[in-house]
Amino acid sequence: MYDYLIVGAGLYGAVFAQQAIAAGKSVLVIDKRPHIAGNVYTEEIEKIHVHKYGAHIFHTNLKHVWDYITQFAEFNRFTNSPVANYHGELYSLPFNMYTFNKMWGVVTPQEAADKIAEQRKEITGEPKNLEEQAISLVGRDIYEKLIKGYTEKQWGRDCKDLPAFIIKRLPVRLTFDNNYFNALYQGIPIGGYTRMVENMLKGAEIRLNTDYFAHKTELDALAETVIYTGAIDAYFDFRFGTLEYRSVKFENETLDSPNFQGNAAVNYTDRETPWTRIIEHKWFEFGKDADGNDIPKTIISREYSSEWKPGDEPYYPVNDEKNGALYAKYQELAQQEANVIFGGRLGEYKYYDMDAVIAAALKKAKKEVI
Ligand code: UDP
Repeated sequence: MYDYLIVGAGLYGAVFAQQAIAAGKSVLVIDKRPHIAGNVYTEEIEKIHVHKYGAHIFHTNLKHVWDYITQFAEFNRFTNSPVANYHGELYSLPFNMYTFNKMWGVVTPQEAADKIAEQRKEITGEPKNLEEQAISLVGRDIYEKLIKGYTEKQWGRDCKDLPAFIIKRLPVRLTFDNNYFNALYQGIPIGGYTRMVENMLKGAEIRLNTDYFAHKTELDALAETVIYTGAIDAYFDFRFGTLEYRSVKFENETLDSPNFQGNAAVNYTDRETPWTRIIEHKWFEFGKDADGNDIPKTIISREYSSEWKPGDEPYYPVNDEKNGALYAKYQELAQQEANVIFGGRLGEYKYYDMDAVIAAALKKAKKEVI
């Protein structure tokens, strides 16, 4: 008998497992995939750590989370600074003085502020949706070229039908600072995320290629408590209907040349280009292999967003009103479920960043693991 059965070997599960083991508990971790690390999984190909489920750039303002996670890997100094490509015009992201200069030819912060203030006038009152929020933050020109197409591709919904908070993730700066995140700590684990999660899971028994629902009764019987990090609606057999998710598909290509786009991430912000972004993985580690040598090849991934359907991997919860109300019904069931804890992006249907997932799992573990 194990103290904990952890369903899902992603970040939430790994943190909980690590904390439980450190407290002397026994842990069985299962995952339906053939590997650990969930969507932060990285795989080494051509000496490049490929982020197989999309770019994961760790960033946080929470010192306790940074102190915690850096026990399991050393982090490099990568700073996310994506470039936007709008029909071949390149802009600096997030929205900063380089962006404003390119968009409007403005030179001083005051000129940029005046331009935004003038364009923002069309929004009166509290922004009701993503479109209004975006225009009120940066004006219509930037909304049209750098936000609208990208957002509609990523979410498959009109910006008027999306919640304002999604865009509040992005900083707007009247300085020449193009660090995408307002975070005190940022970086990528040296050696890849998979190795980091391996270190976190030391001492746990791990069973891969194991479908929880196919063996639920037997698996549940093995442990006192279940930590479930899969999709909450799937757990309840979609009783009230399916929650909506966005899925992402990647088209990976290995190129026989050293430099495709000169940056880890380029966002394609026009509506016409079918992919949302291209990741060039080697730049997460400055183009160097583990021995510090230049890598002659490069690997790129074109990212395509789609509506989730059964059989796809769910990536992003669609946190609009309709789904929020449906989630609340599932959450009520979850609270009544004895000896099961629901956690993580899918278990809590929440657009969590990695650091927030770690913080949530640490908190839960502190409360649960005596
Ligand atoms: N966004 C945008 N243009 C960009 C990048 C981001 O409009 O070039 C908006 C868009 O609404 C997106 C949100 O910012 O949904 C968050 O994007 P981000 O790339 O940070 O999300 P991630 O996929 O990394 O979680």
